[in-house]
Amino acid sequence: MNQQPVVIVGGGLGGLSAALALALKGRRTIVLEQAKEISPIGYGIQLGPNVFHVFDRLGISDAVKRASVLPQNLVMPDADSGEVLIQVPLRSDEFEQRYLHPYVVVHRADIHNILLDACRQANGIELVVDATVVSFEDRGRDGVIAHCEDGRTFEGAALIGADGIKSTMRELLGAKDEPIPNGYVAHRTILPMSEVPPELPHQKDVACWAGPGYHIVHYALRASSIFNIVAVFKDPSGGREEDASNYESEVAKVYAAAHPALKALLAKMDLSRRWALADRNPIRQWSKGKVALLGDAAHPTLQSYAQGAGMAIEDAGVLIESLEECGLDFERGFADYAKRRLLRTARIQLGSRELWHFYHVEGIAREVRNAELRERGTESYYNCLDWIWRGEPGLRQRTQMGLTAGTSQ
Ligand SMILES: Cc1cc2nc3c(=O)[nH]c(=O)nc-3n(C[C@H](O)[C@H](O)[C@H](O)COP(=O)(O)OP(=O)(O)OC[C@H]3O[C@@H](n4cnc5c(N)ncnc54)[C@H](O)[C@@H]3O)c2cc1C
Repeated sequence: MNQQPVVIVGGGLGGLSAALALALKGRRTIVLEQAKEISPIGYGIQLGPNVFHVFDRLGISDAVKRASVLPQNLVMPDADSGEVLIQVPLRSDEFEQRYLHPYVVVHRADIHNILLDACRQANGIELVVDATVVSFEDRGRDGVIAHCEDGRTFEGAALIGADGIKSTMRELLGAKDEPIPNGYVAHRTILPMSEVPPELPHQKDVACWAGPGYHIVHYALRASSIFNIVAVFKDPSGGREEDASNYESEVAKVYAAAHPALKALLAKMDLSRRWALADRNPIRQWSKGKVALLGDAAHPTLQSYAQGAGMAIEDAGVLIESLEECGLDFERGFADYAKRRLLRTARIQLGSRELWHFYHVEGIAREVRNAELRERGTESYYNCLDWIWRGEPGLRQRTQMGLTAGTSQ
């Protein structure tokens, strides 16, 4: 462990997964996080079975499963009538055989803490908070230097930018783009289970109610003691500066025709804070020399597939494989990793935009969508989602061969 460390910018789920993956292969890392402490926003997250191929390698699958709720189904009810348009069983024998691992929902703080604990227990991970990276130098054979806003510098053998959708590292690598707001906003709330309106159906499922220009996602967390709700709708202000005092009346207007159980749920939500939603276009250049991007810094996506964090975690699994295959030659390993990840992550980004439209269609298009969905069976949904849920082909193959973190040398 006396080689130069790998410097990772960003202590989100992607950055911590990459640090742990590298540490388990005996590589020192320094994680630079701009926040004063590494603490995620306190809402829920869905994780598909594909992510567990990486968790197996990181040795945290059991801990994640213990902290998670395993929902019964993914359901999409029509948000006005309540008619169930899609129902995908998540706890069937077929699901288990096809995907090997469960579909889970977990509190972000819990999964972050599982990763943080594993990082603290692994040898050679230094977590540095209050460190905002503003520039870097790639000095070729002499490695890289990350420069922080406060003048501190950190030297390493290579640099990974896992700094999220607003990534500074992406810009420093030469990308000229900005996040693209999609014109929708989200309110998020966690309620004690006792406050969830008893008439609300699908409390044991992940439910995504689809309405004209809006959707609402909900599921239970922490041994079903709390309930996570996300209400998403077209930004009534059209992207202009907003006045939070209007939020309640705006939400009432948007959901005026919604199912009564949904309205009862909305009445319990904290509407004081709103997030504007955005993604970016896929790009080819994720790496240059000894510097690479990972997670939302490389491929931020809309939430339609609930796979943004999943892809960040998968990136970490593939990154370590590519590096190992190149004998830790960072330049070659990073280029191989980027090539291996591009199409899968771009498909999530572009497919999420299409699915977004599908969730929110209005008028006759909505009636056509609903009629089409009535004709489809469970098998067709598994077939549609196979490419995501079966996992990144290389990672899945190694799981099937029984090669996980501790045994893959
Ligand atoms: C409403 C909503 C719901 C979602 N639901 C899901 C879901 O169910 N399932 C799923 O898989 N995904 C979901 N996502 C997406 C998911 O949150 C992201 O894809 C994921 O968090 C990306 O992880 P990351 O580590 O790449 O980036 P982030 O989580 O954004 O982490 C980046 C880190 O870098 C730090 N940082 C930024 N700039 C600097 C800098 N210059 N120097 C140092 N540190 C820096 C930040 O402080 C942050 O800690 C959802 C997103 C939203 C908005």
